[in-house]
Amino acid sequence: MRGNGWGERVSLDLHETSTGLQEIAGWVREAGTVVALAGAGISTESGIPDFRGPNGVWTKDPKAEKLASLEHYMSDPHVRARAWQMRLHHPALTARPNRAHQVLAGLESKGKLDTLITQNIDGLHLAAGSSPERLIEIHGSMREVVCMSCGSRSPMASALVRVRSGEPDPSCESCGGILKSATISFGQSLVRADLERARRAANGCDLFLAIGTSLSVYPVAYLPRLALASGARVVIFNAEPTPLDPFVDALVGGSVGTSLSALAALL
Ligand code: NAD
Repeated sequence: MRGNGWGERVSLDLHETSTGLQEIAGWVREAGTVVALAGAGISTESGIPDFRGPNGVWTKDPKAEKLASLEHYMSDPHVRARAWQMRLHHPALTARPNRAHQVLAGLESKGKLDTLITQNIDGLHLAAGSSPERLIEIHGSMREVVCMSCGSRSPMASALVRVRSGEPDPSCESCGGILKSATISFGQSLVRADLERARRAANGCDLFLAIGTSLSVYPVAYLPRLALASGARVVIFNAEPTPLDPFVDALVGGSVGTSLSALAALL
């Protein structure tokens, strides 16, 4: 499939699907090191909307992107109060992992997944059984809150109890600082050690699977490029085109729940 400069889109309703997935399953079997990068698209089947898909939060409300910045959050108590209200009703708090999360946890338990890098903050990979040692939550996790002054961490659930009992913007119980979900906001740097680990994984793998991501958030979107540059095969599983499609070894369209389950059945 590789070498013509254009990835070959494998559509799930075409006859070639099983042939394409058979070949990808062969790549998984023969790879020494497999790395996966997951995005918001892997969690839409758990009821958590993505940002840029057809029903994405920002597709429907472009202004919401601006409100997600660290600058607004730190400077405006009304933005924080709104953010806490949104956290109270965030679908991730009640969501369950779906078959795509389970396929990745299964690949790991078979010794076929070295590192799982996720852009998701919903904690569903851990809930599906992926082990914390092999998981890099590169944009953090909303299961915890962090104090922006002293750095102390505590469970999101405890902070939400305080919001429910009438505190619009609960502050740190140790130092009085501003609390925020332990996620990377716009305008905030990634954790250097996580990024370095993700870079090493992408550089050192034989097969890189990009799953349910628009590959438009940097620096994470560089990771499959690093893998390509180091000679790894790259496969994209996504319902919509991405900027990297022309350069990769295979493209698998349709639902990632369906395509990953079909792949797992061939392994
Ligand atoms: P994105 O919204 O930019 O892109 C998601 C992609 O997944 C889209 O191209 C969409 O077409 C595709 N998609 C959606 N559902 C799919 C499905 N069932 N099967 C196949 N493809 C599907 O998401 P991104 O690239 O991850 O970047 C968005 C940023 O938003 C990330 O940094 C992430 O931290 C954050 N985010 C996280 C969550 C979460 O934790 N679940 C949800 C929304 C956004």
